[in-house]
Amino acid sequence: MLFDTILQKLRREVQENDYNRYIKQIVFNAKDSRSDLIILELPNPLVANWVKSRFATTLAHLYEQETGIRPQIVVGVKNRSSTTSSTTLHTSMPTKTTKSTLLNPAFTFDSFVSGSSNKLAFNAALSVAFKSTGTYNPFFIYGGVGLGKTHLLHAIGNAFIAKNAQVIYATSEHFLNDFTYHLRNKTIDRFTEKYRGCDLLLIDDVQFFSNKTETQEAFFHTFNELIAQNKQIVLSADKHPKQIIGLEERLKSRFEAGLIADIQPPELETKIAIINKKCEIDGIRLDSDVVEYIATTMNENIREIEGIIIKLNAYSKMIGQEITMEFTKSALKEHIKESRQHISIETIVETVARELGLKPSEIRSKLRSTNIVNARRMVIALARNLTPNSMPMIASFFGMKDHTAVSHAFKKMNEQIESDPSLGLRLKEMENKIRLSSEKV
Ligand code: ADP
Ligand code: MG
Repeated sequence: MLFDTILQKLRREVQENDYNRYIKQIVFNAKDSRSDLIILELPNPLVANWVKSRFATTLAHLYEQETGIRPQIVVGVKNRSSTTSSTTLHTSMPTKTTKSTLLNPAFTFDSFVSGSSNKLAFNAALSVAFKSTGTYNPFFIYGGVGLGKTHLLHAIGNAFIAKNAQVIYATSEHFLNDFTYHLRNKTIDRFTEKYRGCDLLLIDDVQFFSNKTETQEAFFHTFNELIAQNKQIVLSADKHPKQIIGLEERLKSRFEAGLIADIQPPELETKIAIINKKCEIDGIRLDSDVVEYIATTMNENIREIEGIIIKLNAYSKMIGQEITMEFTKSALKEHIKESRQHISIETIVETVARELGLKPSEIRSKLRSTNIVNARRMVIALARNLTPNSMPMIASFFGMKDHTAVSHAFKKMNEQIESDPSLGLRLKEMENKIRLSSEKV
């Protein structure tokens, strides 16, 4: 059948995950479709929306290749009570979905792992999504790359769509492009109408408004209008509004009038929980030592961690091998920048001191208190892994008699790790931090 052929072609064009999660759910409505009008049905508005925004153009293109006719693709929601009649499409659905394009249905509160690094932002996002508007308006999330800002924005958006609210999600760049487009075409009324007509406005990465005076002006008016109508606004940026250079003061003060929450890089525990969550969602099985290895080796950017998991999985399927520790290590090799030559014992001492709340001079001293002896052992273990310094050189750094003291310390450290695996993890984490800080040099 034609539709199956098209689907097989589409499968080659998209990522496997997208195919399994979304494309597979498409039902072709043969009864109401025509050669120039293809009606597709999906089980819920979120998936329908996603399929429409991501794949409709490709689908139309593939149809044209097969039939010579470029059809209009209509994506709707299947009505549960009647599956095949022509009323299966909510007539209002296509218009609704176009208004709330580009929300990823996978970005929900359920798929977001909350830990101390993101708790405030997560809880506030939940309130915004499920309590009446006004409490936190606007709500402003800021934090580094790949830490979940967009995910939370979409989660709020998806919750609003589930309540049948009108949602607009736009990156600040998208907003800017939209604005200049309508300005050029003298259709600014349509622009105004569109942005002021929603119940929830999500603007991602507002730092790109920097120095765009006209766009900021347009946004300022939209903002005021929506707040006056008690509509919710949620914004994200890579910095606190105060720190965004080139952002007008009046916008800064508007943003500060609501709630501002930051997302910090995840601590190890949260990183591990996130990896486990991603594996659960994608049906990937990883041993806990592999999960720990990934969590301690990769830096804080969750997008990158996700990328690695997907890569590992795809690679293991391709060559038909289980994802073992060895396999993971070799696959991650290119990501772990071996920067031995840049790392000095001084750097290691500084990092360990900072992490343990000690002074570098204390670690270098001859003091014998347990915490200092332990810190010294950690430095020695790390130095052996990270620097080309031989045992005698490490010994002379600490003013030890000879290298036997170093190898003794090294042995003791390994015994301690054996009886307390969390110590090993802690050490791995420090190693990662040292590598990262040395890469920047
Ligand atoms: P940002 O917008 O802050 O750069 P994203 O929201 O795009 O980051 O997140 C990058 C990826 O990491 C996304 O796939 C997202 O699902 C995932 N992610 C980030 N934080 C979390 C979290 N706490 N729980 C689950 N997934 C997360
Ligand atoms: Mg983002």
